[in-house]
Amino acid sequence: MVNLINKKQVIYSYSVPQKHWVGDGFHVHGLLRPEEDLHKHISPFVLMDYASPMEFSETTKKRGVGEHPHRGFETVTFAYQGAVEHRDSSGGGGTIMSGDVQWMTAGSGVVHEEFHADDFSRTGGIFEMVQLWVNLPKKDKMTAPRYQALADKSFPRVSLGEDTELRVIAGEFEEQKGPALTFTPINIYDITSQGGADIALQLAEETNTIILVMSGELELEQRRFHDKSVLIFSREGKDIAFKASKNFKALILNGEPIDEPIVAMGPFVMNTRQEILEAMSDFRSGKMGKL
Ligand code: MN
Repeated sequence: MVNLINKKQVIYSYSVPQKHWVGDGFHVHGLLRPEEDLHKHISPFVLMDYASPMEFSETTKKRGVGEHPHRGFETVTFAYQGAVEHRDSSGGGGTIMSGDVQWMTAGSGVVHEEFHADDFSRTGGIFEMVQLWVNLPKKDKMTAPRYQALADKSFPRVSLGEDTELRVIAGEFEEQKGPALTFTPINIYDITSQGGADIALQLAEETNTIILVMSGELELEQRRFHDKSVLIFSREGKDIAFKASKNFKALILNGEPIDEPIVAMGPFVMNTRQEILEAMSDFRSGKMGKL
């Protein structure tokens, strides 16, 4: 029996070497944006910022982003090094430490703040984080806000070889289910390898897939992608096979696209311009609550 390989193809790959500040705490590479050409290949994901490893000196002041609103989507924060503290107007919040993930559903609207955790700031150190925005389908955009604090120890781990491990954050991998509750079908994994490995993933047809190389190198069909590279794959096909270098770390995002119009402006992600204007007015009149 011939095993026909049905590959997902790399349709875009790039890196964004320049960084910009989000508040005074997050120095990020803006890796995914809801631009028209790109969006259909990254949906249900909207935006991804990567705060690649950076040393922060000790301080007693709060570093980060003060009070601001969101509506119509979810913000997912992955703390890799350092610690992040959140607080929102629905009563959600907490501190996420290295390895933890915080999944905040803004839904109909929250006001929140995002800072380096006090304990981390007092000592200083290396900070590394990813923030991902996940879109909500039209029918769920005005859902009640929700906060999921997902601890490192809650993620199933699947061995992909010696010193190589996959964590299931959302969705499923080889029958292991991740703890995150999602509104549309999503798989999120991260993979670490100390010694390097050959990795094969099988994903569904007609889903979008994105890989962020966080450290080391990814080799796929004689092409090498260094750290801070993003690979975006075709909806068609199922299989993705690559070679991970030593000291490798990558984040894998996969999901069923939400094929609806999207209007993303500032902190709001809606279906129409009219809904963006309503969001602005609801925020100004205090309907998204306060801290
Ligand atoms: Mn925010």
